[in-house]
Amino acid sequence: MSKGIYVVVEQRSGKVQNVGLELIGEATRLKADLKDDVYAVLLGSDIEGEVDKLYHYGADKVILVDHPYLKEYVTEPYTKAVTEIIKAYDPEIMLFGASSIGRDVAPRVASRVRTGLVADTTGLRMAKTQEEYDKEASMGCADPTRALLMTRPAFGGNIMATLMCPRTKPQMATVRPGVMKRIEKDETRKGELIKFDVNFTEADMNVEILEVVKSDKKSVDLTEAKLIVSGGRGIGGPQGFDMIRDVADALGAEVGSSRACVDAGWIEKDRQVGQTGKTVRPDLYMACGISGAIQHVAGMEGSELVISINKNDTAPIFEVSDLGIVGDVKQILPKLAEAIRKYKA
Ligand code: FAD
Repeated sequence: MSKGIYVVVEQRSGKVQNVGLELIGEATRLKADLKDDVYAVLLGSDIEGEVDKLYHYGADKVILVDHPYLKEYVTEPYTKAVTEIIKAYDPEIMLFGASSIGRDVAPRVASRVRTGLVADTTGLRMAKTQEEYDKEASMGCADPTRALLMTRPAFGGNIMATLMCPRTKPQMATVRPGVMKRIEKDETRKGELIKFDVNFTEADMNVEILEVVKSDKKSVDLTEAKLIVSGGRGIGGPQGFDMIRDVADALGAEVGSSRACVDAGWIEKDRQVGQTGKTVRPDLYMACGISGAIQHVAGMEGSELVISINKNDTAPIFEVSDLGIVGDVKQILPKLAEAIRKYKA
């Protein structure tokens, strides 16, 4: 019988990425219903030093595949390793980050083990109501209470669709980074390490990595940022991002944006926060000249502290803000940057 909630944890340059810890957090919540263990699957080379962290964030067991072929992400060796783990352990649920790595490896694994996959999910839960059970049962599911309901935006984000793949195992999903919350770190937590050998052959490494070149573009991984200063249409034009950048620099923050500015070509798409952009969960999110449309709020409402500046005191953004400043961003932001610099000096 299929058992266990598995999370494929991503690492880059030997460091576990946030999305993996978020998914372990979500797996611990599913565990409350499933009464089953949470397994973190860690693939890499010389990476055993990262294992304890996975216990600290909620993994009961870690399956470690340590091999030089897994140092950098390469499609074939990663696909083979995850496929072999599924064949050996028969997981009930398997989660991946909806990152470039997760989006590449998950569909290939699903195809090799002949199971379903729901991509880019933003919500996961077990079926609970009778109605849900009945719907599942009519799909031929042996035990509907173990069916995973996977929610994701559909039709360009205009509706949320809930999908299930209960007849084949594992039930697989990729989950958008930043959506799920990791659990509180507990350094006293311990777990069980399972070292798993994959019999790689030279044919598995069908790509030769000559050099890894880091993008010289300033990092824009908003999902990992602790502080974000975001600009919306209210900043007035592309030059408005100069004041946003100035405040962000003073704070040591990343720059974010609403979709309106991205669509207008004022800033790159990878800065967009919201339903069709990034879901962020920083310690501080500053919304400057952003109205607070539902699609924007969907991407930032999990922020620890939200401060908004808007000249309209009825702007919906104030409803999700801890601190609201009614005023003109063009007057407030330069003074704010100056004040932060003075305070830090
Ligand atoms: P506006 O709504 O035009 O708001 C500008 C705000 O600035 C206003 O509140 C105004 O009072 C204020 N303002 C104006 N001048 C000043 C000033 N000088 N000082 C201070 N305040 C000022 N949007 C996203 O952001 N992210 C998404 O991922 C996203 N996905 C979407 C998906 C779908 C399917 C759809 C239909 C829409 C999506 N949108 C998304 C768009 C969303 O509905 C809004 O249109 C968008 O968020 C508006 O951006 P904004 O707040 O910058 O602009």
